[in-house]
Amino acid sequence: MTHAFVFSDDTLLCRQMPDGWWPLQVQLPESSSTSDDSTCQQAYQIGHVTLLESLAPSHWLSDSLPDVAHDLTDNNGFTAQATSAMTYDYAIVHDVILPIIAETSGNAFVPYRQLIPQLPAALSTQISQAIQLLRWQADTQFCSRCAAPAVHAETDERAMVCPVCRLRQYPRVQPCVITAVTRPNPQTGEMQILLAHHHRYGEQKLPLMYGLIAGFVEVGESLEHAVVREVAEEVNISLKDIRYVSSQPWPFPSNLMLGFRASYASGDIIIQEDELSHADFFDLSNLPKIPPKGSIARELIDQIAKEQGVLL
Ligand SMILES: [Zn+2]
Repeated sequence: MTHAFVFSDDTLLCRQMPDGWWPLQVQLPESSSTSDDSTCQQAYQIGHVTLLESLAPSHWLSDSLPDVAHDLTDNNGFTAQATSAMTYDYAIVHDVILPIIAETSGNAFVPYRQLIPQLPAALSTQISQAIQLLRWQADTQFCSRCAAPAVHAETDERAMVCPVCRLRQYPRVQPCVITAVTRPNPQTGEMQILLAHHHRYGEQKLPLMYGLIAGFVEVGESLEHAVVREVAEEVNISLKDIRYVSSQPWPFPSNLMLGFRASYASGDIIIQEDELSHADFFDLSNLPKIPPKGSIARELIDQIAKEQGVLL
């Protein structure tokens, strides 16, 4: 393990290539730790994490892929090797030699969101993992129960342990359901998708972006119940034929997006005004601006379009 991605919050050190930004890895010093040389200890130093090998998912992102850089024409076959990641601050403290980061150098910190549509799925997943683990390390330096300084678990599991009360803190994932609701257009029969414009997308940039209905799963709730509740709360309609499709880790802040599809059952759309400014069923042939490739929202929409023979 001698290389690492370098992060500053949700941005990643990249090099500009002819076809776009590409994540850059820097070489780590042979022994960056002066204490015992156990690799699992090194893995849990603040601001430095090991990353698992990441396999490209095969059940989605299978068609209509964006052009991928660097001869990775077979995107599904791309595997991101196990490596590590560290923060910029960690690199400075540990005398890791960084490439020159200046406007003219071709190197820069690029927001992860901007990279998603371009990166192979396996690499994108690995970078998402890195952002979440680095943030988790920074956020769990103290016991949340008794406030004593937490230490890294002695085993190689990812956990922070309180030496006083023994509370173990693990990286947390927040499940979030996202649902593509469809119905045939009552007049023409053309398949339609329910899309909503959220206030958080912003009202200034035109055309307005529309997304799917999504929300966090509550304590004690099943995923299916969360789908029904979120759609009822946000647009007042009821659903049938709810089925799970696929998932995507989403590091803003640490979500696991669980993608569902469902059919419209009944009800008129009444939007929840503190979250949405508009929602409606849109014909597949006449969609507003939708989320970019690489997001699960887009994958769900693309899947429906493909089934209907519509090219988006
Ligand atoms: Zn404690």
